[in-house]
Amino acid sequence: MTSDAKTWRATVLTLFPEMFPGPLGVSLAGKALATGLWALEARDIRDSATDRHRSVDDTPAGGGPGMVLRADVLASAIDAVDLSGERPRLLMSPRGRPLTQSRVAELAAGPGPLIVCGRFEGIDQRVIEARRLEEVSIGDYVLSGGEIAAMALIDACVRLLPGVMGKPESGAEESFSDSLLEYPQYTRPQQFEGQPIPEILLSGDHAKIAAWRRAEAEALTRARRPDLWANRQIQPARGQKRPKNPTDG
Ligand code: SAH
Repeated sequence: MTSDAKTWRATVLTLFPEMFPGPLGVSLAGKALATGLWALEARDIRDSATDRHRSVDDTPAGGGPGMVLRADVLASAIDAVDLSGERPRLLMSPRGRPLTQSRVAELAAGPGPLIVCGRFEGIDQRVIEARRLEEVSIGDYVLSGGEIAAMALIDACVRLLPGVMGKPESGAEESFSDSLLEYPQYTRPQQFEGQPIPEILLSGDHAKIAAWRRAEAEALTRARRPDLWANRQIQPARGQKRPKNPTDG
């Protein structure tokens, strides 16, 4: 199968296109990429350099350590990408809004983003503003480049695309759906180092199993993620319309 205009597509601007598809080329995402369920385009920012040395970065204005990606080079790399269909324009950045499962679901439902990967100290502020890049963080720690962050974002989106995961319901029940962490999972053998599988899971009573899982998920969320739990408390019960969460984008 080949990809067409409607295929979900990630376009990555990077100084290291050889890093792609990398881990996105194996397992579920890799199979889906090979069969054309999604498309990936890694473009070299350096191709947009204009000087003799193909330079992409320069020293920070005002002084300080490291190098900064030039606004003009990055802008022309962005302008060379087909952005029709209202594709989101993302910049991986530790200063960005933390990525959430609900933002991932939105991105997966759209045409697929353009993703700019920073390197060195980051990129010139003017291109962020002029090209209205949405800064997205994958957590409160600093990576050496945006590529691994972009891969994390793409992987999270791709597994939600229709046909990529075996059963659609395996997405609906997992961590963060309904603002809960997932309940514990078990499989064979029935005894492991003296520990049995919780009996209720072998009872065949689906209603009881669902109630047990729900209780476990709630207890885990309360203990590990009081932030998620507190956020959940202020939302109306399932099925009712819930106000848009201001942190969800
Ligand atoms: N000096 C910058 C960090 C630059 S790290 C600062 O203090 O904010 C180099 C690049 O790695 C960034 O431009 C960004 O693209 C990427 N990066 C680093 N940490 C990240 C994170 N937590 N989430 C997303 N991208 C990140």
